[in-house]
Amino acid sequence: MVAPSRLLDLQAIDTAIDRLDARKRALEGEGELAAARAQAELAERELGELRLAIDTFDRDGAKLEHEIDSLTRKAADEESRLYGGAVANAKELGSIQHEVDNLKKRKSEREDELLVVLQRHEDVERRAKEAEEHATELRIAADQVAADTARELDAVSAELVTRRDERARLAAGIDPEILELYEDLRPQKKGVAAVTLVDGVCQGCHEKLSSVELDRVKRTDGVARCEYCRRILVL
Ligand SMILES: [Zn+2]
Repeated sequence: MVAPSRLLDLQAIDTAIDRLDARKRALEGEGELAAARAQAELAERELGELRLAIDTFDRDGAKLEHEIDSLTRKAADEESRLYGGAVANAKELGSIQHEVDNLKKRKSEREDELLVVLQRHEDVERRAKEAEEHATELRIAADQVAADTARELDAVSAELVTRRDERARLAAGIDPEILELYEDLRPQKKGVAAVTLVDGVCQGCHEKLSSVELDRVKRTDGVARCEYCRRILVL
């Protein structure tokens, strides 16, 4: 008895089902989607940090501006005392002058600090703008991957239903003993239990059968098996 050629059709369907199952598991595992979402989230976190830095510079800048205003007012008050004529004592005038100089010096220092803060603020604003564009692109890409994944999962699931129906019909027409052997062999042979011979070469292990063995295979009453890999040979 030689294995029926329907066994090769069954093998083709089973190979297709195995591939679809693997793809379905990969899609359900959401590897690609998880990676795309992780990238988008990372970019959004970076943007959030830049926005926090902008807030800090805003607060620092406002505080310095307030200090500068206050120092300007105090210096103006002291100067009006200095030149107002109400104070005549030279020592006191000298002391006021010293205070005016001191206030102006502190004001100048605060102005330098403010300049640095404003420059940094501008730099972070620019980086935040770039980060925002980047994060938006990645979020759109992740949404696209989610849509593609859902669509492909639907298609794969539908094809699996069709293929399993097809398999059931085909399996019903195969000798139960051969089918049992085939199903026992499949898991041991990386999913491939039934193969053809091409020019005497087993298409499972790609070994060439000797002419004696080939002749024996052709004449066998039982199911023909490859002498090397033990797969079922369909002639
Ligand atoms: Zn073989």
